[in-house]
Amino acid sequence: MHSEKSQTDVLIAGGGVAALEAALALRARAGELVQVTLLAPNAEFSYRAVRVGEPFGHRAARSYSLERIANDLRIGLVEDSLKWVDADARVAHTENGLALRYDALLLAVGSRTYPSIKHAVTLDPSRIDEQMHGVLQDVEGGYIHSIAFVIPSTQSWPLPIYELALMTAARAYEMSVDLTVTLITPEDAPLAVFGTAVSQELGALLGERGITTHTASRCVMREPHRLTVQPANNQITVDQVITLPELYGPSVAGIPRNATNGFITTDRHGQVPGVERVFAAGDLTDFPIKHGGIAAQQADAAADSIAALAGADIEPQPMVAVLRGQLWCGDRSLDLQARVTGIHGSTSSVVTEPVAKPETKIDARYLSPYLQEFETVAITP
Ligand SMILES: Cc1cc2nc3c(=O)[nH]c(=O)nc-3n(C[C@H](O)[C@H](O)[C@H](O)COP(=O)(O)OP(=O)(O)OC[C@H]3O[C@@H](n4cnc5c(N)ncnc54)[C@H](O)[C@@H]3O)c2cc1C
Repeated sequence: MHSEKSQTDVLIAGGGVAALEAALALRARAGELVQVTLLAPNAEFSYRAVRVGEPFGHRAARSYSLERIANDLRIGLVEDSLKWVDADARVAHTENGLALRYDALLLAVGSRTYPSIKHAVTLDPSRIDEQMHGVLQDVEGGYIHSIAFVIPSTQSWPLPIYELALMTAARAYEMSVDLTVTLITPEDAPLAVFGTAVSQELGALLGERGITTHTASRCVMREPHRLTVQPANNQITVDQVITLPELYGPSVAGIPRNATNGFITTDRHGQVPGVERVFAAGDLTDFPIKHGGIAAQQADAAADSIAALAGADIEPQPMVAVLRGQLWCGDRSLDLQARVTGIHGSTSSVVTEPVAKPETKIDARYLSPYLQEFETVAITP
């Protein structure tokens, strides 16, 4: 139905992958029918997916000014955090006490992270370089002889632990230092979400690099350096354990969330059931795979729905989960692709490439080309 106003006010809460992809998709699909405002606490968008390469000498992750992006896209920007939503009144309330009216609200505030294993180094996406740098120095100096890389649960980002394990093993080999690398994952096979072809190729590469992989396993660490791998109850003694945080949904009062892990349910068009004109995309949703490419596809589907709501002449397309990723292995990159059915990839494929442009590590229809062009984009003063 057409709004009586000439423009539909769209509030996007978040300043990450899903939020920016949605802003770009709305510009493409709804044009002047929407007035978009971005509500985010961060002044910059940081491309954290490439942070795994920094300790190994890759180019540092770039940060992009949200103000510059907002100016370029001619959208509003409010530097603040969403606190709660009054869905009946269509008002979003911020931490600083602002009340922002909307015709459509897109929630894209990402997930909350919690350390998963006591005594382990839990990777902080904003400090990976610093955290891994010390570890690599200790490996090179001969102070660390064994490292376990642990994926704590399937509610985590799938790629970075594999990348760090592969690149660390390669670095130790280049330096001619002895290092035992173990990888522990609850997945049935390495990167099982990407399907059989990817798991087989990755399994072979892990083997080539001498990495012992325990699949379908979880671990606990009751004391430093001693891992108990379940269900086999294997005891492993290691010098260092590196793991990822576990992810949980955000706390936004007024928005229903899953009782066990706080993630927000959406339909395939990004609509939050039972809350009119509220949509969600990205890591905060209950879609089982937390991945930037998926966040972008969800953002595109939500943008379609919002564009149609604003009166654009389009048929909103539901999200079709095609999982694409680049696994950085040091000397090369594996381009991974799978169509997702349930939580496993089918029609899985893998192609070996040289390490590609960092801005394409997250496969996002609008955001990836936009960031590649960013320097040449005309900025509206
Ligand atoms: C080390 C690492 C490597 C990765 N590698 C890859 C990869 O190679 N490929 C890939 O596809 N994915 C990768 N991922 C996963 C990918 O980064 C995430 O899936 C993706 O960033 C999710 O996007 P999002 O927009 O949902 O959340 P985020 O990108 O986390 O953005 C959330 C945004 O919301 C903002 N925010 C938080 N709270 C509020 C609030 N209350 N109000 C308003 N704004 C708020 C935050 O400041 C942030 O701007 C990787 C992740 C990590 C950590």
